[in-house]
Amino acid sequence: MRKHFICGQLFTGLEETADPDQTVVIDDDRVTFVGPAAAAPEQRPGDEVIDYSQDFVLPGLIDIHVHLSYGNAQANEDIDMYSTPEFRSLRALHAAHRVLKAGYTSIADPASTGYTSVAVRDAVNAGMFPGPRITTSGRQITSRQGLGDWYPSWIGAPESSIGVLVRSTEEAIEEVRLQVKNRVDIIKFTADGLNRSPTGELMACFNQSEVNAIVEESHRLGRKVIAHSRGREAVLQCAKAGVDIIFHAFEMDDEGLEAVLKSGSVLSPALTFLVNTTEFTRPSDPCHRWRPNMNRRDIDDACESLTKARKAGVPFMVGTDSGFAITPYGEWHARELEIMVEYLGFTPGEALRSTTSVNAQLLREREDVGRLAPGSYADITVVSADPLLDITVLQKRENIKDVYLAGNKVDLTPSDVPQTYQWEQSYRQWNDIYTRERVAELAQ
Ligand SMILES: [Zn+2]
Repeated sequence: MRKHFICGQLFTGLEETADPDQTVVIDDDRVTFVGPAAAAPEQRPGDEVIDYSQDFVLPGLIDIHVHLSYGNAQANEDIDMYSTPEFRSLRALHAAHRVLKAGYTSIADPASTGYTSVAVRDAVNAGMFPGPRITTSGRQITSRQGLGDWYPSWIGAPESSIGVLVRSTEEAIEEVRLQVKNRVDIIKFTADGLNRSPTGELMACFNQSEVNAIVEESHRLGRKVIAHSRGREAVLQCAKAGVDIIFHAFEMDDEGLEAVLKSGSVLSPALTFLVNTTEFTRPSDPCHRWRPNMNRRDIDDACESLTKARKAGVPFMVGTDSGFAITPYGEWHARELEIMVEYLGFTPGEALRSTTSVNAQLLREREDVGRLAPGSYADITVVSADPLLDITVLQKRENIKDVYLAGNKVDLTPSDVPQTYQWEQSYRQWNDIYTRERVAELAQ
């Protein structure tokens, strides 16, 4: 069925500005016309005309950093150990639905338990359950020195962990082949280590030739590569190896930036996790003693190097690291845009283009989403306020007027299932250490 959207303002995703008095025509799931109302095709009998003349219309929004299997985790153990893989898959399906209800029509999942997100992707694609378009990795590849292998060596990275430990180049290549065989869309690995050198520098967890091998094999098999890469050494290695998307890059130096410009790698900071932790963490939270301050320092480092990268013309993708207790599903996806504007000097138009047509380059659908142009999918977000004037309007549920996925209106009624659905054994039972001294102190 043909629908005519009368748009007060239209942001196509391809430019950084919006145009007034535009019309978008869709036929079933695809866009067939975008342009000035005066040049639009005539309305035929049976066509539906939808009046958004007082609204701001833009492509369906995209978050490339949503961990569907994490379950709003309160600790690493929640992510890796508690709850069965079967339960995690069902929980991930619900998480995906929540993200869609927040107005996000596409996501990428860079690291999940087993093939949870592959299963959710396939179930949504088969039309069994509502959900956003999903592009996903499997477990993130890590080494004995890396993020994802965070338990003592006598435990290692359990089978149920989101990290998969490889002990040689051969094992890394084997893991890439296994994941591609099991139909992941992207490969994710950890480039950062867990330890700092005596000089205070965060050491990378692989050496250069290992990183090269992971990237080469992934590319040979037609998969883009994402690396968790905050430290100076890790960023430099990733850029040299031609990693497609570098997450975080907070401690990137000038040499790293030069290598990023040369390789054409894209950066994606995911500052929402840090900013939320800094601003929301309360004294009763176990991480309160160290995490907010540490995150504040990370944000300061990030602002310096990422602002430099933006000015040098490095493309940015937008993601939030959703799936933790501090970044629950469906809540903070548009916050990253505000942070990019406030902390990194993006204009709202630049941030919006990043979260639409730039983000789309990572997805399975590429040019078919993140833009409103003839031929693209009719994934459309309608906002009752102007995000180019105030980027924060996208965070308020009441401003998201309508969302269309493949031309179908999405039910935006918030889900009433509570946000906390962790395995109860995983809850920390005491937030304090009750020494005799502490008990006496509390009694006063
Ligand atoms: Zn992440």
